[in-house]
Amino acid sequence: MDLSYTPEELAFQREVRAWLRRNVPGRQRDERPVEFGDPRRIAAAKAWQRKVHAAGYLALAWPRDWGGQGADIMRQTIVNDEMVRARAPGLIGLLGISMVGPTLIQHGTEEQRRRHLPKILTAEEIWCQGYSEPGAGSDLASLRTRAELRGDEFVVNGQKVWTSNAQYADWMFCLVRTDPDASRHAGISYILIDMRTPGITVRPLVQMTGDAGFNEVFLEDVRVPRANLVGQLNAGWQVANATLAHERNMLGSTTRTQQTFQKLVRLARTHRRNGGPASEDPVVRQRLADLAIRVETMRLEAYRQLTDALHGRPPGISASINKLVTTELNHDIARAALDVLGSYGPLHKRDPRARDGGVWPSDFMYSLGLIIGGGTSQIQKNIIAERGLGMPREARGIR
Ligand SMILES: Cc1cc2nc3c(=O)[nH]c(=O)nc-3n(C[C@H](O)[C@H](O)[C@H](O)COP(=O)(O)OP(=O)(O)OC[C@H]3O[C@@H](n4cnc5c(N)ncnc54)[C@H](O)[C@@H]3O)c2cc1C
Repeated sequence: MDLSYTPEELAFQREVRAWLRRNVPGRQRDERPVEFGDPRRIAAAKAWQRKVHAAGYLALAWPRDWGGQGADIMRQTIVNDEMVRARAPGLIGLLGISMVGPTLIQHGTEEQRRRHLPKILTAEEIWCQGYSEPGAGSDLASLRTRAELRGDEFVVNGQKVWTSNAQYADWMFCLVRTDPDASRHAGISYILIDMRTPGITVRPLVQMTGDAGFNEVFLEDVRVPRANLVGQLNAGWQVANATLAHERNMLGSTTRTQQTFQKLVRLARTHRRNGGPASEDPVVRQRLADLAIRVETMRLEAYRQLTDALHGRPPGISASINKLVTTELNHDIARAALDVLGSYGPLHKRDPRARDGGVWPSDFMYSLGLIIGGGTSQIQKNIIAERGLGMPREARGIR
């Protein structure tokens, strides 16, 4: 396997790097995607996305007809990596760009593509994902939100939960049960809901980080045009899975994890405990060595996934491996930082004595959420065991 870039890719990398040096807004460096409803932050994040789009660095792999570049995955990877290296702000429209956009290109109607794709790219319309329900998370096929077809409209009733960004999203891609008598997977449809439709109530939930990133969404007699159905009626499960594969790919950035690990090493070198830098403590050194090996393993696994993509092979279980490894590692790096910091560890970002701006405790809590979101680690392990290693399927009703 040749891990080096071609001369053309190197030239492209230099070009992207130079553009980011000139354009990444100083004040917003290193921000997470906007997760809560401060209108000024949202406006700034939308302006940033528009700028990236205008420069031609957004959704590179989308077909040209739909505002992309029809570029290969290497170019997209280079842009993603350079964004992280430049500590550019996260993209507010990431769900649209990475999940619903590709799904509409694959399964949507011409009209749906024309209506939605341009506004996804310019961040004019932000999307949220209405999959999870109080009784349907890992076991998504248990979902109970009903959509009854009446003439040219669905009438939707039910509840979604953990809906990230619903408090400012314009649209939701949503799974609903359209045939309650069919088998669990066969009666589900995939529809697009305008969040301003009467009958929708969004109630923010406060996470342990103190931020209100996700929400409960209540749907009461919400009328949705039949034209907003993606794919065939009652065949939403296949469409939903196409979207989920994109989500798993989106959740882990190996470059960001490498960067966070380097930040931990710097912290260990500079933070003093027992009269010397923490990095001189043999237990801390052992821990750093262990994490360094895992970071390297993760990087090589990501190359394997990239190689598959370059050869046109579907992601298969490597998306699950990547999601599992990266999210668990991010959490363990933050945990190690808290241990290095000892009693300084829990200091909040507003405390002047907090190290690294108090980012470590919130990273620790936030990264725990990402181990759960997009399919928990246990679920990824099941997928890897059953589909990757060919182990027997989990017995039904064992839990
Ligand atoms: C930060 C964050 C953001 C999210 N954003 C969204 C969003 O925008 N839209 C959305 O629709 N959802 C979102 N979710 C929800 C997320 O997809 C679910 O939380 C996740 O799928 C797990 O479902 P659950 O919470 O119902 O847990 P459950 O399914 O109830 O699982 C509880 C525990 O049991 C384990 N478990 C369950 N089944 C098995 C099994 N078969 N084998 C082994 N262990 C098992 C799980 O791993 C877990 O530890 C988000 C979640 C988080 C944390």
